Amino acid sequence: MTKAKSLVLIIIFLAIASFLFFDLGQYLTLGFFKSQQEKIDLYYQAHPGQTILIYFVIYISVAALSLPGAAIMTLVGGAIFDLLTGTLIVSFASSIGATLAFLASRFLFRDAVQSRFGRHLNAINTGMEKEGAFYLFTLRLVPAFPFFVINLLMGLTPIKTSTFYLISQIGMLAGTIVYVNAGTQISKIESLSGILSPGLIFSFVMLGIFPLVAKNIVSVIQARKVLKPYTKPEQFDYNLVVIGAGSAGLVTSYIAAAVKAKVALIEKHRMGGDCLNTGCVPSKALLRSAKFLSHVKRAKEFGIKSATVEFDFAQVMERVQKVISQIEPHDSVERYSELGVECISGAAKITSPYTVEVNGETLTTRNIVIATGARPFVPPIEGIDNIAYLTSDTLWDLRKLPPRLLVLGGGPIGCELVQAFARLGSQVTQVEMLPRILIREDLEISEMVMQRFKSEGIDIRVEHKAVEFIADKDKKILVCERLGEHQGEQVQIEFDEVLVAVGRVANTQGFGLEDLDIPLTKTRTIETNQYLQTLFPNIYACGDVAGPFQFTHTAAHQAWYTSVNALFNGFWKFRVDYSVIPWATFTDPEVARVGLNEQEAKEQGIAYEVTTYDIDDLDRAIADQEAHGLIKVLTVPGKDKILGVTIVGEHAGDLIAEYVAAMRHNFGMNKILGTIHIYPTLVEANKYAAGNWKKAHAPEKVLQWLQGFHKWRRH
Ligand SMILES: Cc1cc2nc3c(=O)[nH]c(=O)nc-3n(C[C@H](O)[C@H](O)[C@H](O)COP(=O)(O)OP(=O)(O)OC[C@H]3O[C@@H](n4cnc5c(N)ncnc54)[C@H](O)[C@@H]3O)c2cc1C
Repeated sequence: MTKAKSLVLIIIFLAIASFLFFDLGQYLTLGFFKSQQEKIDLYYQAHPGQTILIYFVIYISVAALSLPGAAIMTLVGGAIFDLLTGTLIVSFASSIGATLAFLASRFLFRDAVQSRFGRHLNAINTGMEKEGAFYLFTLRLVPAFPFFVINLLMGLTPIKTSTFYLISQIGMLAGTIVYVNAGTQISKIESLSGILSPGLIFSFVMLGIFPLVAKNIVSVIQARKVLKPYTKPEQFDYNLVVIGAGSAGLVTSYIAAAVKAKVALIEKHRMGGDCLNTGCVPSKALLRSAKFLSHVKRAKEFGIKSATVEFDFAQVMERVQKVISQIEPHDSVERYSELGVECISGAAKITSPYTVEVNGETLTTRNIVIATGARPFVPPIEGIDNIAYLTSDTLWDLRKLPPRLLVLGGGPIGCELVQAFARLGSQVTQVEMLPRILIREDLEISEMVMQRFKSEGIDIRVEHKAVEFIADKDKKILVCERLGEHQGEQVQIEFDEVLVAVGRVANTQGFGLEDLDIPLTKTRTIETNQYLQTLFPNIYACGDVAGPFQFTHTAAHQAWYTSVNALFNGFWKFRVDYSVIPWATFTDPEVARVGLNEQEAKEQGIAYEVTTYDIDDLDRAIADQEAHGLIKVLTVPGKDKILGVTIVGEHAGDLIAEYVAAMRHNFGMNKILGTIHIYPTLVEANKYAAGNWKKAHAPEKVLQWLQGFHKWRRH
């Protein structure tokens, strides 16, 4: 705790202690006031300004310190002053006092609460930021919630101080008037009970609930309003029209067909989208061939005197295509038609919230799901248009291995492909603007991958900003500006082919979104609410086009929400749950993650403990000649609650599954430790990590006691 916090805490403590020690509460009773009323009235007549000031200061102090007596003070306000003056004074004094209590709570406790429970508070924080004023208004009006508790709790939330003050003053006004008015007849009042009659309490509750109900009505009206300009067909051809047959669109239509809805799936290019044709599948197939070559290179490590391979790059790329065609049937028109999905080949255009045009025909539909994916982002670097650059879309047509490959981008896609091509024999240079590759991962994690890349001969250029491509007859050059320590230096890199892998941009143009004014986010994905609805309540978006993640498994996860929410809207809808999202980068070593890592925990101010296990100690990893890597687990300090896990090493993407299950189903390290893991497997590493956690949390006192017990048993 900082000095300033300690000081504030001491002042508050001393003030409350004095209140109790000197029994000041006796002066905040009806009896005491009535006994002194005459004197107070005379004093007020003689010194009105002073009386108001003294009353104001006492009221603020009582409210700010959350002392009992605010209700009596309000009655007294009515008794001393008239209804109007009393209401005015009390309204400001109570609001200022409440705001001081709110600020004290925020100053003293908010950081600690957020850092301890931050992850769980995310949803509440988001809700408060958006709708805090409504909640506060309701709480202020409903007398069941003690005011001082509201002040203190609200201080822990992200609600703005000005909003808190304003809403508190408005929300407390009705109650203030009732109490001040009652106070004008104080001689007839014997106790606080009865001031609020059941009828009055009911009215307040209604008044409090009204804004929330009104807000829901407004959102229904707004939804109707955006749809109003469009003629609703009397009957629909489909329950759902899905645009795009990638991971998101396929799963959406699969679920819709499974629950017997009439669904059309429109694809303008190839069924399976990016994942099957240009993404996950070809990249993983290529990585496998490259890994085989890396093993051959490492033959001696496996006790093999020498091993040589002969290969043709074109054949490796043909194998990639073969893998795609083997998996293709899973995503094919035949399979989906059999499942009950009407597959349409063509470019879709949304012409109204109820109609989609394809191949010159108009389909009417109750709901539309946009699942149009994303494409490689090509940065506007000078001269780039004069270079026949490759992207993850076009790479798969290569049949000649580039002798010198330049890869722009140090993210997961860039890293996977950098290593694959280096292992296949290209001399690879990787250019990244940031200080390290895989920047989202913790420093030591990306260092481990970087070390491996360097040992495999990859030339990694971090803090290099690509500024210009120069191409003449016999040379292609990238000019980079160095950042960081060497800021301002220029570097030229010669290459034969360049792969641009600096991110992906959502496909949002050219199919009707512009005409419907469907808003996009800052990152150019389609803006959706928690139910994945766009501006139009019957148009949904999922997958890469909606973000915030760009993975096949998150696209499929969202797809469940879009299809269920679209088909059952009006009866029930589900908020998309992003609480436990895993992912992996399939470099060698693989990097897999679920939940928070250390850098994110620090950024978000979340308290954590770190437990690590070095995989170089694991029997199976040693036997496999893969004794390297790390498991890094973040837990809540002193608790068996996992906040996040990063694994680097062989098959990290598989090993992480146990932690994903743990986080999803709320079990911790004790349960992982108590689970039998087959010997010898790589997944045993999870158990050893849990063992390290347990050792660090051994109950020292109990162990000391046990030592004594065993000593006694030896006698
Ligand atoms: C090289 C690479 C490797 C990757 N590796 C992995 C990985 O290992 N694991 C992982 O989880 N993710 C990986 N990804 C990401 C993954 O491929 C995407 O997250 C996933 O494909 C997104 O699915 P989607 O359905 O949103 O979009 P897409 O798969 O892009 O599908 C969108 C479809 O919509 C169609 N379409 C667009 N507009 C229209 C229109 N107007 N009318 C009709 N059809 C239209 C497109 O033709 C496309 O087929 C990788 C991506 C790349 C590029």
